Amino acid sequence: MEVVVEVGRVLVALLAVDFVSGCVHWAEDTFGRETTWVVGRWIVAPNVVHHRDANAFVERGWFASNWDLGLAGLLIAGLAGLFGRLDVPVAVFALGGAFANQIHKWNHVPARVPFFVRALWATGLLQRPQHHAGHHRGDKNTRYCVVTPFVNPVLDRLRFWRGLERVLVPVFGAPRREDLAGVSWNRSGRAVEGRAPAPPCGRARSAPSPLPGAFPAEERDGSGRPGPGARSR
Ligand SMILES: [Zn+2]
Ligand SMILES: [Zn+2]
Repeated sequence: MEVVVEVGRVLVALLAVDFVSGCVHWAEDTFGRETTWVVGRWIVAPNVVHHRDANAFVERGWFASNWDLGLAGLLIAGLAGLFGRLDVPVAVFALGGAFANQIHKWNHVPARVPFFVRALWATGLLQRPQHHAGHHRGDKNTRYCVVTPFVNPVLDRLRFWRGLERVLVPVFGAPRREDLAGVSWNRSGRAVEGRAPAPPCGRARSAPSPLPGAFPAEERDGSGRPGPGARSR
C-alpha cells in the first residue's frame, strides 16, 4: 500500500511541475516584452525567436539552455533538504523543473535524442514532439505545459488560460506580440482577430537550417505534415 501511495505522490509531483511549466510559459507568452529590464533579453527575446522559428534554439549548448532552470531545481532541492523534506516526489518535482527546457528542446530534435529519452517517450510519461507541436500552431495559445502529455488537454478543454487572461489582462495589459500571430488583445482583455504582421526588419533571426526530424521553421506536427501549429532557450 505504501508503494501505491508513493507512486501516486510521484505522479502528482510530475503533474505539478508540468502545471508550473505551463504557468511560466503562459506568463512569458502573455505578458513578456523584449524591452522588460533583464527578463526581456534573458527570457522573452529567445522565446520570440522560438515562436518565429521553432528550430532556432536547438543548436544552443546544454548549459546555455538549462543553467537557469537547473539552478532553480537545485534551489528547490536544497531548500527541501534544509527543511528535511527532500523525498522522491520533491526530487521529481525539482528534476522536472530543472529539465523542463531540455524536455522541450528534445521535442524539437526527435531524430537526435539519446536512447533514454526514447525510452521515456515510450512510457508515455514524458511529452512527445507530436504533442508539443500543438503549441506552435495558429495563435500559439494552447499546450503551454512542456513536461507531460496529461495536463495540457485538461487545461485547454477547461479554457483555463483564457479564463486567466480574462481576469489578468485588463489589469496588467498584454502586448500580444506579433510572433504569436493572428490574434491581438485590446485593453479589455477580449481577443481581437487581426492579420499577422510581417516580421519586423532588423531583428536577429536564426538561419533556417532544419535538422533531421526537427520542426521546420513554421512547424510540423511530428507526422511530417506541415502543421497548423516554451521555453525556448
Ligand atoms: Zn517549442
Ligand atoms: Zn510559447
